[in-house]
Amino acid sequence: MQIKAKKHFGQNFLKNESIKNKIIQSIPDSKKIVEIGPGLGDLTHGLLAKCEQLVCFEIDSDLIEHLKSRFSHELEGKMQLINADALKVWGELSKQPYFLAANLPYYVATNIILKALRDKNCSGFVVMIQREVAQKFCAKDAEQNSLSLLSCLYGECELLFDVEPECFEPAPKVTSSVIKLVKNKEPDCDIAGFESFLKSCFAAPRKTLAKNLLAIAQKERILRIFEQLGIKESIRAHELNLALFLKIFDEVRDAKRQ
Ligand code: SAM
Repeated sequence: MQIKAKKHFGQNFLKNESIKNKIIQSIPDSKKIVEIGPGLGDLTHGLLAKCEQLVCFEIDSDLIEHLKSRFSHELEGKMQLINADALKVWGELSKQPYFLAANLPYYVATNIILKALRDKNCSGFVVMIQREVAQKFCAKDAEQNSLSLLSCLYGECELLFDVEPECFEPAPKVTSSVIKLVKNKEPDCDIAGFESFLKSCFAAPRKTLAKNLLAIAQKERILRIFEQLGIKESIRAHELNLALFLKIFDEVRDAKRQ
């Protein structure tokens, strides 16, 4: 069957064998793996050797037909194939612990990674995304941003390697990167609240953190919190560490409750 890639589903199929092998090697052996967007099934094939159970979510029903015939034998055993938009059925993705593996469609990549971070059943992920977004998730020190700080709540997000456009069919316009995060801690703060707090902190990165915080708290309160925590008024968001962001978050929330 001739399959034409659909742009609106972000279909760029990985064709380079050595990159496929590198991705598979970087995935830890896991009891259960969830793959989002198996496409033509090239990564899927390698993933089957890495787990006892593989569950694949694919949005495109034409690809489902292809996958059903390619994996007819495996689908009678350890593999499950679900025709759905992974974002819409996230609550049903897995009731047991799982590792996420995917060459993600770029139009939903950030959203999917944020959902995987928040999902307590997800033990970590290896995903391929647009390099620019990968660099954001893995940024450190002066380059840090709300996405890298959110990742740090769960573990270290590593940029493993870049993948050039020629490795795909059709070739995307941008370079891609593979990133990996193995969760080694579970934050005990209100994650949704902290996500939106970080967005405010980095809303205008050139402004001081205190100025950005004016959107969510009063000036006197901010200055008092900074003084208590020994933070200079002139500090910018990229200069502060995660522990201090968490402390400011708690203090701002307490002030709102008072
Ligand atoms: N895994 C294949 C590979 O590496 O060649 C395909 C990767 S392609 C970049 C992205 C895949 O995700 C496509 O098969 C596309 O149909 C699927 N997809 C796009 N949006 C999706 C969604 N919301 N839920 C599930 N699958 C999706």
